[in-house]
Amino acid sequence: MQSPAINKAMEILQQLRSISEGQDGIEVKLNKIVKMIAEQMQADAAACYITIGGNRLVLFAAYQMNEEAINKVLFRFGEGLTGEVAQNSRTISVADAWSHPKFVHKPELGEDNYKSYIGIPLIRWHRSVGVLALQSKELHEYTALETEILETVAMVLSEIVSSEEMSEWRKNYDRGSQMGYREKLKGLSLSKGYGMGVAVVHRRRQIVSKIFAEDKEKELHRLEIAFGQMNADLDKKLDAAKLGIGEHVDILDAYRMFASDKGWYKKLVNNIQSGLTAEAAVERAYEDMWNRLSGTTDVYLRERLHDLRDVSDRLSSYLSGDFGSVKSIDSPDIIVVAQTMGPADLMDYDYSKIRGLIIEDGTPTMHVAIVAKALNIPVVAKIKGIFSEAKTGELIAVDGMEGYVYIRPSQQVQDNFRSKIEERQRLQAKLAELRELPACSKDGININLYLNVGLAFDLDYIESTNCDGIGLYRTEIPFMASEIMPDVDRQISYYQELMDRSGDKKVVFRSLDVGSDKLLPYWGNVGEENPAIGWRSIRITLDRRAILRKQIRAFLRAAAGKELNVMFPMITNLSEFEEAKETLMLELEKEKRRSDKIPKKVNVGLMIEVPSVIFQLDSILEQTDFISIGTNDLAQFIFACDRGNPRLTERYDVLSAPFLTVMNEIISKANKHHVYCSVCGEMASNPIEAMALIGLGYRNLSMSGSSFGRVKSMVRSINVEEIEDYVHSLLKSNKKTLRPQLISYAHDHGIEIY
Ligand code: PEP
Ligand code: MG
Repeated sequence: MQSPAINKAMEILQQLRSISEGQDGIEVKLNKIVKMIAEQMQADAAACYITIGGNRLVLFAAYQMNEEAINKVLFRFGEGLTGEVAQNSRTISVADAWSHPKFVHKPELGEDNYKSYIGIPLIRWHRSVGVLALQSKELHEYTALETEILETVAMVLSEIVSSEEMSEWRKNYDRGSQMGYREKLKGLSLSKGYGMGVAVVHRRRQIVSKIFAEDKEKELHRLEIAFGQMNADLDKKLDAAKLGIGEHVDILDAYRMFASDKGWYKKLVNNIQSGLTAEAAVERAYEDMWNRLSGTTDVYLRERLHDLRDVSDRLSSYLSGDFGSVKSIDSPDIIVVAQTMGPADLMDYDYSKIRGLIIEDGTPTMHVAIVAKALNIPVVAKIKGIFSEAKTGELIAVDGMEGYVYIRPSQQVQDNFRSKIEERQRLQAKLAELRELPACSKDGININLYLNVGLAFDLDYIESTNCDGIGLYRTEIPFMASEIMPDVDRQISYYQELMDRSGDKKVVFRSLDVGSDKLLPYWGNVGEENPAIGWRSIRITLDRRAILRKQIRAFLRAAAGKELNVMFPMITNLSEFEEAKETLMLELEKEKRRSDKIPKKVNVGLMIEVPSVIFQLDSILEQTDFISIGTNDLAQFIFACDRGNPRLTERYDVLSAPFLTVMNEIISKANKHHVYCSVCGEMASNPIEAMALIGLGYRNLSMSGSSFGRVKSMVRSINVEEIEDYVHSLLKSNKKTLRPQLISYAHDHGIEIY
């Protein structure tokens, strides 16, 4: 027995299908569809709005409303009831729209006689691609049954409004409405470099055209085959001989476990049993979870949602037999365009061919962006609408220096890119030549340059850069990539590999820095309201002391016979540092009793990331062997600005007097106490920011491997004494940012800031 809602929805969908299979153009079809839906639902009027430019809605089709308003009336997301539906991707139903505080009257719509309103979001990829709205003259409360029918119909309608035909219409609309032809699009650079190649749209979701199963057994069989094939292919990807060893393999392994989850499979089977096709069953399972979790601020749960989206799309492409279309792109240069992406997804491609990555919803701290950076792939993010706009097979150029993307670039742009790519290759070759040369300024000051590592790829940089050592080993990265909490022996193997590859070079281990945006798959949700300032990092490991003790034990054993440097992240006051240090010392004593294989020297330090420690710095400096400044977190707390929020990424600048003054205070005190001080946040990886740090007196910088050559080249072209005078003279400036001045200074003084 199927529910009455399903029966009614099926009736509407049958009519909808016959309209959409007709020969009419998309405008005529949608006008017919909204009329049919209004009649079937006994509404007096209906409208279909389409999202344009990622944040506005335009009236596309209407029934019993002012026809003149079509293609003209616009709602911003969040504006009026319709804008609100799109903004929150949630249905709104009100008996008297006029009395609703969000209602906005647009006289040109001709809706003056209507009272009741129901708006249903048309959702694809968690985004509102449009809104279906029904109105009636009577004060009508929409029942749960009616809402369910409309939401089911909206699922199919959202596929229609996301069709190729519609995206053509959108492009024409954009052009016609003077929004400018989107050939050159501005985004945010997440990884530098230039790349040009053939676009591969990353697993664009399949259109679910058939919702209800005609033959349940057949659908179950299709699901079984696709599920089995997908998992078999994922198994193949784990062939360690091809992928090498390291965290990327672990990441893929975790992904595979998720893809073969029995609970998920059971849900899909149940959905098919209730009458859906296999494709619709996959979507329904995702939507159920999305409805439950989309409102959560919990990063861990959001991540799970993300995983389910990825794996649902993968399964859908197997169901449609479309998987492997990537391989049919026979080009040595590809540009991957994704709405969002997990780090494991990069493994779907031959990454030696990836010339660029465009992630519509990317943020700088996103895992895949970090992996791409390690692989030297330029990445541009935050271009609204690019995912639906770009088409597989068309030429795209990515400018990761300035954050631009060019779709179907003109011949002139292509030539320009080719010469920039060549220039960059020459630069890379030149930077590689720097390997043997010292990181010494023009006036003879040596700057120690270290690497930040975490992923297995990073270890290759130890040899290729000839760095002074490892300034930061983010130990949580192997923990994050692991399916279960690594035991002491497993940890020793990670740490030993790093020690071995580093030879006699200095290595600084950071104790587990989890929580906030770095969550372990095997730890349950801790329901943090404000994860960045919540139970994270040292706060967790002090409370769960056994974890810290085990990690310290692994450090001590891995560094037997060598010098061991351990630092603690997110220290907020002296007593926290003392507690952590005491834990280490106790473990050291235990190790001494256990074996004679202990490190020949142990240095204990802390990260300066929380502003409160700066006010206690003198006392702290008396007790610590070294400090390292995590400018990523320090800036987030100094500016009270979430480092992972894409809306805020360009709002405050570390190159401004308040932040530089704090940094000046820290290095001055460290020098006064003769305590070794380094910077290991992103500031040290960016040549212009690293230049400012040197100007403040910093002599130890730890950076990502891909930035190493550029920072070294900057160091070799500066005069430290001059830059010190200049940077100190800027500390009184009230400007929002000092970046332009510092860049001009670099240009005027021949400082190489690539
Ligand atoms: C920092 O906060 O600057 C830092 C180096 O630590 P992470 O980026 O790993 O939080
Ligand atoms: Mg940090």
